[in-house]
Amino acid sequence: MIKRRKTRQIRVGGVRIGRGAPVSIQSMTKVETVDVGRTVAQIKRLEDAGCEIVRIAVKTPADTDAIRVIRKRIKIPLVADIHFYYRLALRAIAAGADKIRLNPGNIRKEEEVAAVIKAAKKAGIPIRIGVNSGSVVTRLPCHHVTRLQDRTSALVNAALRYVKLFEKHDFRDIIISLKSSDVVSTVEAYEAMSERCDYPLHLGVTAAGPYDAGIVKSSIGIGALLLKGIGDTIRVSLTADPVEEVVAAKRILSAIGARRFGPDLISCPTCGRCQVDLAGIVRELAQKLSSVNRQLPTKPLTIAVMGCEVNGPGEAREADIGVAFGRDSGMLFERGKILRKIPASKAVGELVKLITTYEVD
Ligand code: SF4
Repeated sequence: MIKRRKTRQIRVGGVRIGRGAPVSIQSMTKVETVDVGRTVAQIKRLEDAGCEIVRIAVKTPADTDAIRVIRKRIKIPLVADIHFYYRLALRAIAAGADKIRLNPGNIRKEEEVAAVIKAAKKAGIPIRIGVNSGSVVTRLPCHHVTRLQDRTSALVNAALRYVKLFEKHDFRDIIISLKSSDVVSTVEAYEAMSERCDYPLHLGVTAAGPYDAGIVKSSIGIGALLLKGIGDTIRVSLTADPVEEVVAAKRILSAIGARRFGPDLISCPTCGRCQVDLAGIVRELAQKLSSVNRQLPTKPLTIAVMGCEVNGPGEAREADIGVAFGRDSGMLFERGKILRKIPASKAVGELVKLITTYEVD
């Protein structure tokens, strides 16, 4: 059982973050914000996939105008991502953004930050202090950049400088992120920050890369922190469709037992003992389960699909529903008891039928 770090709690629209609230899932749109139609369409797909908070890039006054329209057409809270121009933050707040993300590396003047704080306070919305290695580490002398310790302290110091400024202006509706493209410095920075303050933390490995590599980096970085009880909301950054970010975030949270998103499928890797097309069966079952998950989002089932009698019956018995294959057929289990023998060709249909009718205790 993971013991979560105790933090303050903030609210982003209707979503609570920190102090025992479920670790929430965030993503970011990847189309021009000013193109309201495409932005809303992408957010709707994210909502359907299970995204709970969405961020949009705000780089022009026209983007802040778009916030008013987008906000009315979506259900989840909307975060305005601001860099360089504090006036865009003021306009985004006036347009109804549910949260502002500021990058300490890109908006540095105290009077500008103070103006945003004042507006956020008046609107009753939180601000994320979103430190990013790309905008703080580049300010280090070149020979320092490669030293991990310097990268980590650059991230932490940039955040702490901002935190002090916010506290000086009596603003504590804060959430912090310290993202590096390097997994180790990301983990170290969050660990260091978690010891220095009790603000909730938004986890992520920035610029994690293309789909496969990005999933690995994010799973290690975000997973390592969550296992230590650090982290209150997550975003998996991938150079891919943002829906993939949400799917990956759900998988990370499920894998460490932080949240459940429908049935959990376990299957063996297969070896020379396997006598059925287990990869094909598992692929088809996973596809079917993703649509079952939409209908039964909270059904916390474990389903085991195993290739032979070596570990198969044991795993199948321990799962809620399981199948252990032999030659062309498999033994179907429910709650540890044998139900019947089923042909491999009908296994997917039989499993789906059982999953959809299974009564959770
Ligand atoms: S369950 Fe059987 S088929 Fe699957 S990996 Fe283990 S020994 Fe191989």
